[in-house]
Amino acid sequence: MDILNWIGNRHQPAARGAWLENIEPATGKVYGRIPRSGAEDVAAAVAAAQAAFPAWSAMHVDQRSACIERLADAVRRNFELLVEAESRDNGKPVQVARHVDIPRAEKNLRFFATAVQHFVTESHVTAGATHIHYVHRKPLGVVGVISPWNLPLYLFTWKLAPALAMGNCVVAKPSEVTPASAYLLSQWIEEAGFPPGVFNIVHGLGAEAGEAIVQHPDIKAISFTGGTATGTHIARAVAGTQKKICLELGGKNPGILFADCDFDRALQTTLQSAFANQGQICLCASRILIEDALYERFRDALVAKVRTWEVGDPSLPGTRLGAVSSRAHQEKILSYIQLARELGGTILCGGHAAVPAGDRCAEGFFVAPTIIEGLDPLCAVNQEEIFGPVITLQRFKGEAEALELANATEYGLACTIWTENLGKAHRMAAG
Ligand code: NAD
Repeated sequence: MDILNWIGNRHQPAARGAWLENIEPATGKVYGRIPRSGAEDVAAAVAAAQAAFPAWSAMHVDQRSACIERLADAVRRNFELLVEAESRDNGKPVQVARHVDIPRAEKNLRFFATAVQHFVTESHVTAGATHIHYVHRKPLGVVGVISPWNLPLYLFTWKLAPALAMGNCVVAKPSEVTPASAYLLSQWIEEAGFPPGVFNIVHGLGAEAGEAIVQHPDIKAISFTGGTATGTHIARAVAGTQKKICLELGGKNPGILFADCDFDRALQTTLQSAFANQGQICLCASRILIEDALYERFRDALVAKVRTWEVGDPSLPGTRLGAVSSRAHQEKILSYIQLARELGGTILCGGHAAVPAGDRCAEGFFVAPTIIEGLDPLCAVNQEEIFGPVITLQRFKGEAEALELANATEYGLACTIWTENLGKAHRMAAG
C-alpha cells in the first residue's frame, strides 16, 4: 500500500519524493510506503486551506454538517476494510478495531456534525439589563491536527470533526506509525462533498511534517494528542505566537480498589482497563492500588486470569492481545520490565517478549501481559508512562494512603475507584 497525501482534494506523494517504510507490527515486515512530507507539503496544504476558508466558513452549518455526515456514511460503508486496515497497521486485535476504533470514529463524525447544529452559548446580563455580554464562537481559519498511533482513526476524527464543523479548514497529520486508516478516509473526502482545500492530510514524521504544522505562521490553532514530552515541546514552540493549543497527553493512571468493592466486577473491569489495546490507551490503569485486606485475594485472582491470556495474531477473530505498535516501543516496554527486576520488583506473570503460535507472527512485536509487585511508588517504573501491557500492584491502608499513592505522580489524566460506599467514592474522586 503506497499511502499518499491529500492536499486540495488531490492525492500526491511528498514534494521531495521521499518515503518512509510502513511496518506491520504483527509480522515485523514492511508492507507499504508513507510519504515523508516536509515544510513544503505543509505549506501547500495551508495555502489550499486558506483559499478554501472564506467559502467554507460562510457555508450554512447544515451543509457543513451534511459533508461530515456523508463522511461518516463512508466509514460505515467501508467498515470491514477499515477494521482490517487498523488492525494490520497498529497490531491491535481485529475485534478491538471492530468494537472500539471504527464504530467510535463513525460516531465522532456524527457527534460533531449534529452537536454544531445545537450549540448554545452563554450570556451575562448586568443589573437592570443595561448591558448583555454574549459569547459568539467563530471559526479561526486553518487548524492543525496532530494525532497518535494508539487509537488512530478514533482520535484523528475526534480532533478534526469539531474543527471542520465549526467552519475551520484543517491540515491534519496522523501518526507515521499508523497512517493507513487516515489514508483510506482521504479517499472519501471529495465524494462526501468537502470542497478542495477544506480538509487536507499530510503524512510524515513528527519532527518534520508535525514540526512544520506547529511552526507555520498561518495555522491559528493546533489540536494535539500524544505524549507529554511532545505536547510540552509544542506548547513551548507556540508560546508568544498566540496560537491556540489543545493538548491531550499521557497518563500513569491509578486504579484504586477498596476492600468493600464488588469483587467480580472490579476484577473483570481492571483486567480490561489494564490490558485493553495491549495497555496502549491513555486512560489505561497502570498502577493498581489495593487495600490491605483485599490485597492477596485480588492479586492472586488477577494473576490467575492474566496467566491464561496469550498474545495472538491480531488478524484472527479470537485474539485478545495483539502486537504493540513498533519494535522501538516493544524495546521501551521490555526495558521498563528489566528495570523493575533491577529495582527488586517481583514479576508475577509475563515479563518477556512473546511470540504467538504459527509462523506468520514469528518476527512481530509482542509482549506478554505483565504484573509486577514490590516496587517503590516513586521509582521510574511507577512514575513514567510505559504505555504497554505492564501494570504494577501497590498495597495501601485506608483512604488517606490511597490518595497519597494515587497522587504521587506528575500525571493526572484519569483514575478508577472501586468501592460500594458512595461517600467514599466521591471523597476519593474529589481528592
Ligand atoms: P507522540 O507524542 O510521539 O506522537 C503523537 C503525534 O505527534 C504523532 O503524529 C507524531 O508524529 C507527532 N509529533 C512528534 N513529534 C512532533 C513534533 N516535534 N512536532 C509536532 N508533532 C510531533 O505520541 P505517540 O507515541 O504517537 O502516542 C502515545 C502517547 O499519546 C501516549 O503518551 C498517550 O498517553 C498519549 N495519548 C493521550 C490521549 C489523551 O486523550 N490524553 C489519547 C491517546 C494517546
